[in-house]
Amino acid sequence: MSFSLHGIGVSGGIAIGYAHLASSARVEVPQYMLDRQYIDEELARFDEAILATRADLENLRANIPAHAPAELSAFLDMHLMFLGDSMIAEAPKRLIRETQCNAEWALAQQMEALVARFEEIEDVYLRSRQEDVVQVVQRVLKALMGHPSHLPLDVDFDSERILVAHELTPADMVIFKNVHFAAFVTDLGGATSHTAILARSMAMPSVMALHNARGLIRDHDLLIVDGRDGVVIVNPDEAVLAEYRLRQNQWRIDTDKLKRLKSGKSATLDGTAIELMANIELVSDIDAVKAAGAHGVGLFRSEFLFLNRDDLPTEDEQYEAYKAVTEALEGKPVTIRTLDLGADKQAPWGHTVADNPALGLRAIRLCLVEPGLFHTQLRAILRASNHGHVRILVPMLANFVELRQTLQRIDEAKASLRRDGLKFDDGISVGGMIEVPAAALTATFFAEHLDFLSIGTNDLIQYTLAIDRADDSVAHLYDPLHPAVLGLIQQTLRAGAKVGKPVSVCGEMAGDPLLTRLLLGLGLRSFSMHPANLLQVKQQVLRSHLDEIGPLAQKLLKNTDPEKTATLLGRLNV
Ligand code: PEP
Ligand code: MG
Repeated sequence: MSFSLHGIGVSGGIAIGYAHLASSARVEVPQYMLDRQYIDEELARFDEAILATRADLENLRANIPAHAPAELSAFLDMHLMFLGDSMIAEAPKRLIRETQCNAEWALAQQMEALVARFEEIEDVYLRSRQEDVVQVVQRVLKALMGHPSHLPLDVDFDSERILVAHELTPADMVIFKNVHFAAFVTDLGGATSHTAILARSMAMPSVMALHNARGLIRDHDLLIVDGRDGVVIVNPDEAVLAEYRLRQNQWRIDTDKLKRLKSGKSATLDGTAIELMANIELVSDIDAVKAAGAHGVGLFRSEFLFLNRDDLPTEDEQYEAYKAVTEALEGKPVTIRTLDLGADKQAPWGHTVADNPALGLRAIRLCLVEPGLFHTQLRAILRASNHGHVRILVPMLANFVELRQTLQRIDEAKASLRRDGLKFDDGISVGGMIEVPAAALTATFFAEHLDFLSIGTNDLIQYTLAIDRADDSVAHLYDPLHPAVLGLIQQTLRAGAKVGKPVSVCGEMAGDPLLTRLLLGLGLRSFSMHPANLLQVKQQVLRSHLDEIGPLAQKLLKNTDPEKTATLLGRLNV
C-alpha cells in the first residue's frame, strides 16, 4: 500500500531507496540470519567481542589522565560491571542459538529488553542507568563490527538504503558519516538540532519529526525522501516514482551547475566583498571545505572529537586534529570553537544530564568548572596555531565574569606552553559566540574585549524565543524571522561596527539561501555555514545589490505581522 508521511525537511535533495530500520541501539545494527553451520563461529565471535571490550575498558581505567573528571573512574567501573553481567554477556548467545540471528542483532534485541525494564524503574537515578547499558552495548557492537561474520547471500549492497529511526543523536550521525545511506528519516528532532546540522553537512536528504515513521514503515519498503519539502512517500506507484526520478535528476543537474561558482570571487553586484566560511565537525570535513572554495573555517565544532568514546582525547590527539585542519587550510583562518558539550551533545563521561540541559552546564560553563579539561584543549589549540592561522571561539558567553575567566584561562595556557618551550601564535585572535540574548544586548562590551564575534543564531533563536531547538513539538514556533531575533542580530552587527571588530553569523541562518539577502541587508559581511550550502549562498550574494536590499531588510526587521513576513521575504528574494 502506498502512503505518504509529512515532517520537517532538514536537508534538501531527493533520495529513492529501500528502508532500513535502525535498531534503537543507536548505532546501525545489521540484521541477518546465519546458516546453522556458522552458529558456533558466531558464538565465539560474540565472546571475543566481550573480551576485547573488557580489555579496552580495563586499559582505559588504568590510564585515566590526571585532569580527567572525577566521575570517569566510577563510570568505567560501572561499565565493567554491566559488561560482566549475564544479561549482556550470556543472554544474547541464547538468542543466536535459538533464532540463528547474527550477534549484533541478538545483542541489540537484548539491549532493548533491558532498556524497557529500566524504563519501568521509578527511581530517576536508577532509571537513567539505562544510558550506561546502551553505552556498554555500543562498545561491544563496535568490537563486533570490526570483525564481521559470514553475511547471507541475499544482502543487496548496491541498492540505496534509507535509514529509518525513531531518534538519532549527533553522536550517531558521526558514525553514519562512515556508513553509506542515501537519506535518513526520523520520528523526532528539530531543524536546527545538531543531528539535522550534521545531515546537512553530509548533503544527505533528510526528513525529521515524522512522529511514527519507525512504526509505519517496514524494512525494505521502497521510499522516496524529499528533504526539501519534508515528504516521505512509502511504496510509491510507478507514476509517482517516475516523477520523483525526474526531480532527482534536475536536483543533481542544479547542484553540478553550482560547482562552477567555486573559484570566482564572492562579492555583491555593487562590488562589496562577502566572506564565505565553512562550518566543520570533523577533520574529514576538510575535503568538503575545499570543494566549496570556502575562505576558511568559521566554526570548527571541536566537541565532536569528544563524542562516541568513553575516554577524553589527549592534548596530543587534539593537537594533531587541529593541526591537520590548520595545515590543510594553508594559511586561511581556522576558527576552533572550544568545547560546546551539553544539551543534545552529551559525552558519556560528562556530568549528570540536568532536567533542562540547554539551560544547564553547557559549553563555556562546563569548561569553566572543568579547568583541567579546558586547559588541555586550550594548549592543543594554541600549539596548532603554530602551523597556520588559528582563531579561538568561545561558545555561549553570557556574562562578564565568564569572559574574564576565559581570557585568564587562555593566558594560563599560554604561560604553561612558554614554560614547556612550545611554540604558539602569541597574538592569536579570541572571539566570542553571541548566542544568548544577554550577550547580544550587551554586544558592545563583548566586542570591546574580544577580537571578533560570531552570532550563533541556532541558539540565539532557541534562547530568545524559549524554543528547544531539538524538540519537534515546538518546531513551528522556531522562527528566525521573529523581529526580536532580527533585532538582536542587527544590534550585534552594529556593536561590532561601532568598535571596529568583525562579526559573522555561523548558525544555520547563514547557510539558508533564502535568508542571504536579509542578512546582507542587516549589514552582515561574513557568513559561516556547512560547506554543502556554500555555493547556493554564493549564488545569492552574486545576484544581490546592497542598495536595493537594505530598505527591504529594515522593513522585515520592523514587521510584526506574520502574514506579511512571507511577502516581504519574497520581495527581498526576487
Ligand atoms: C549556533 O548556536 O548557532 C551555533 C552555530 O552553534 P551550535 O549549532 O553548535 O550550537
Ligand atoms: Mg550554539
